[in-house]
Amino acid sequence: MRHRIAVVGGGPGGLTLARVLHRHGCPVTVLERDPAPDARPPGGTLDLQEGLGQLALDKAGLLTEFEALSRPEGQAMRILDTAGTVLRDWRPRPDERANPEIDRKQLRDLLLDSLDVQWGREVAQVVPGTGEGVLVRYADGRQETFDLVVGADGAWSRVRPAVSSATPKYTGVTTVETSLDDIDTRHPDLAQLVGDGSVAVYGANRSVVAQRNSGGHVKVYVKFRAPLDWHAGLDLTDVEATRSGLLALFDGWAAPVLDLLGHGTAFVHRPIHVLPVSHTWAHVRGVTLVGDAAHLMPPLGAGANLAMLDGAELAESIAADPDDLDEAVRAFEEQMWARAERWATITTAGLERLVSPDPAEALALFEQVHD
Ligand SMILES: Cc1cc2nc3c(=O)[nH]c(=O)nc-3n(C[C@H](O)[C@H](O)[C@H](O)COP(=O)(O)OP(=O)(O)OC[C@H]3O[C@@H](n4cnc5c(N)ncnc54)[C@H](O)[C@@H]3O)c2cc1C
Repeated sequence: MRHRIAVVGGGPGGLTLARVLHRHGCPVTVLERDPAPDARPPGGTLDLQEGLGQLALDKAGLLTEFEALSRPEGQAMRILDTAGTVLRDWRPRPDERANPEIDRKQLRDLLLDSLDVQWGREVAQVVPGTGEGVLVRYADGRQETFDLVVGADGAWSRVRPAVSSATPKYTGVTTVETSLDDIDTRHPDLAQLVGDGSVAVYGANRSVVAQRNSGGHVKVYVKFRAPLDWHAGLDLTDVEATRSGLLALFDGWAAPVLDLLGHGTAFVHRPIHVLPVSHTWAHVRGVTLVGDAAHLMPPLGAGANLAMLDGAELAESIAADPDDLDEAVRAFEEQMWARAERWATITTAGLERLVSPDPAEALALFEQVHD
C-alpha cells in the first residue's frame, strides 16, 4: 500500500526519516521552510554517537560515507580553569569511534543526496481528522492532504499543536555563539589552545567552549545564567557593544580565553529552551513528531543523535508494517518517548552541572563521561 507521507522539516531528523523510507521503497515528501539548502549558515559541528546517530546512519546505508567524512580526532577535549591552567587534556585513541565529529553541512549533504525536498514550503498549520486525511496548510495559503504528517520541524514546531499543547520553556541559561575562521593561519596561538577538538573553561555559572569544525573554522560558545531579557539595553546587532558586554561578563579570565571572544566578528544569541522531560501525548491518527519537535532538551550532544534515530526507527516501523500505518506510528512513539525521557533527564541534570555555581561540578561531569 502506498501512503501519502509528508515530513515537515529537513533537519537531521526529517532527512534521516526520509532517507530510510526511501531506502525501503516508501514514497515521501519533505517540506522545508528554507528556500534552499544553503539559505542560512548550517551551525556548528555535531558529534554522532555510536548507538544513536551512527546507528541511524547505518540504517540509512550511509555509515561508510560518514566514516570517510567524520573527524575522530575532534573527540579531543581540554578543560582549563579561568586562570588558563590546563586541568584535563583528553585525546582519543586513533581507533576511537565513539563520538566522531562531522560538520552539519556535510551531514545534511550526505542525507540529502538524491532526496526530493520541496524547498520554500513553510507549514503554518496541521489539521488531523478531516475526511480526506491530515490537512497541511502552508504559509502561502495553499493546502494539501496526507495520510501521515511527521513534524520534524524543530523547537518551535508548527506541527506539535496538532498533538500536544506543550511549549518550550526557558531554562535560565543562555548561549551566545561566535566563530573564528582560518584559525591556524590567523590565530596560531588560539589554534593550539583549541587543539584538534574542543577547549572548555568553566567558571561560576558561566563557561566558554571553543570547538574546531573542518577547514580551520572554530565555533565559540559562551553560556551563562541570566534572565531572558539580559540584553535589554544592548543592541545585539552592534558587534562592538556585544563583544564588550560579553568580555565584561568574563572579567579576570585568562587572556587567551578572552581572545576567543575578542576575535569574534558576529554574535548570535541562543537562549536554551526545553520541553517537559516526560513529554508525551495522546496518540493522534495521522500525525506524529520526531526530534526537537517531540523532545527539545539542553544541547549536550544528544539532540541531533536522537532526532536521527527517531527518524530511522519511524521509517523502519512503517516499512515493517505498511498495511497498518497507525499501528506502526503508535509502536514507534512508545519507543521514542522512553528513550527521550532517559536522555532529557541526563541532559537536564548535565546542564545544571555545566553551568553551576561550583565549576568543579563541570569537571566532575566530564570525568564521569571519560571514565
Ligand atoms: C549550539 C548547539 C550545539 C549542538 N550540538 C549538538 C551535538 O554536538 N550533537 C547533537 O546530537 N546535538 C547537538 N545539538 C542539538 C541539535 O542541533 C538538535 O537537537 C537537532 O538539530 C534537532 O534536529 P531536528 O531535525 O529535530 O530539528 P532541526 O535541526 O531544528 O531541523 C528542523 C527543520 O525544520 C525546518 N522548519 C521549521 N519550521 C518549519 C515549518 N513551519 N515548515 C517547514 N519547515 C520548517 C527548519 O528550517 C529546519 O530545517 C546542538 C544544538 C545547539 C543549539
